[in-house]
Amino acid sequence: MKEILLLKLGELVLKGLNRSHFEKRLMKNLAWRIRHFGEFKIYCMQSTIYVEPQSDDCDIDAACDAATKVFGVVNISRAAECEKDIATIISVAKEYLASSLSSAKTFKVEAKRSDKSFPYKSPEICFEVGGALHDAFENLEVDVKNPEVCVRVEVRDRAAYVHANPIPGAGGLPVGINGKAGILLSGGIDSPVAAYMMAKRGVELFGIHFFSYPYTSERAKEKVIELARLVGVYAGNIKIAMVPFTKIQEEIRAHCKEEYFTIIMRRFMMRIAERVALEKGCGALITGESLGQVASQTMEALGVTENGIDLPVLRPVIGMDKEEIVTIARRINTFETSILPYEDCCTVFTPKHPRTKPKLEYIIEEEKKLAFDSLCDEAIENIEII
Ligand code: ATP
Ligand code: MG
Repeated sequence: MKEILLLKLGELVLKGLNRSHFEKRLMKNLAWRIRHFGEFKIYCMQSTIYVEPQSDDCDIDAACDAATKVFGVVNISRAAECEKDIATIISVAKEYLASSLSSAKTFKVEAKRSDKSFPYKSPEICFEVGGALHDAFENLEVDVKNPEVCVRVEVRDRAAYVHANPIPGAGGLPVGINGKAGILLSGGIDSPVAAYMMAKRGVELFGIHFFSYPYTSERAKEKVIELARLVGVYAGNIKIAMVPFTKIQEEIRAHCKEEYFTIIMRRFMMRIAERVALEKGCGALITGESLGQVASQTMEALGVTENGIDLPVLRPVIGMDKEEIVTIARRINTFETSILPYEDCCTVFTPKHPRTKPKLEYIIEEEKKLAFDSLCDEAIENIEII
């Protein structure tokens, strides 16, 4: 029996040309994600993406699992493909769905006939297949409202498909259809979640990480690379610009008032990130800031932080509690890596009493003590892309 995957697309409010762009990008992302699992033919018809193994050694379990992490897919069905003949459809349904049908109490059959030359209309398909399954599985009763197993029969142009109970997909929009953004990726819990959330809305990611060797270790850098890899399971490959930040932090410490260390450091981050992001064709920056989480994330501090840059700053976790962020981090498998205890450059020179309501005028005065632009230039010149 030939088994294939049927992927249902989400948010089809997108129309016309956008829709075909949406489908093409989704198929491209999917092809990349399943490339190691054998040769598959991927095509789109009637707003369903078909994933057909081309040989016996294709790993359809792995492909199915990978497909659950591709944004733009609402659900995934593993389906048996068969000849467009009612007796064949019935026997395939009995065999292919045997394990779920024999352990369930209730079921129903739904049918869709897009090939109008098929001699049975949809209600007739339901009647024939439903009757045969009812006879074959004595445990089953029909429940049209809330069945345990919903058997679906689709008679399409090329073949008929039998499947049941789809697996939920990742939802969202295909990565890449909503532009590209620079994600300020630290080693913490919040920024990988922020990255995931924007990728889910179709944004392609470019990572930017600030490190302060020797205050932060090589392991801290590897942790960020690992986090990008884990987010990449959903977001696709993420490159990271590793920005050396030691000199900037030492200069701030040497010349500025301690209570402003963090906020000035964050202003440097934003400005350097903006320059890197623009060079990489990004239309926005993303951070993992959450309102009120720490002194540098009060409303006043956020205002001062983003003053001086023009790109929009997307903060998808701004209104979330830490616990809600942690729940997502666990689900997407970044949590355990995020809590590995390596220093982040943000924590290296943390002031004892940071200002929670910084005034922009004072900060700008403080910054005049530093060679702001040349420090940024130097950091950017020494970026390593990973
Ligand atoms: P945590 O879970 O510890 O809060 P975090 O990543 O949110 O981790 P914060 O100190 O709250 O860390 O920083 C707020 C945001 O600033 C981060 O979400 C991230 O976007 C950015 N950021 C902080 N440190 C760095 C860094 N070293 N490199 C790049 N971006 C950073
Ligand atoms: Mg945080």
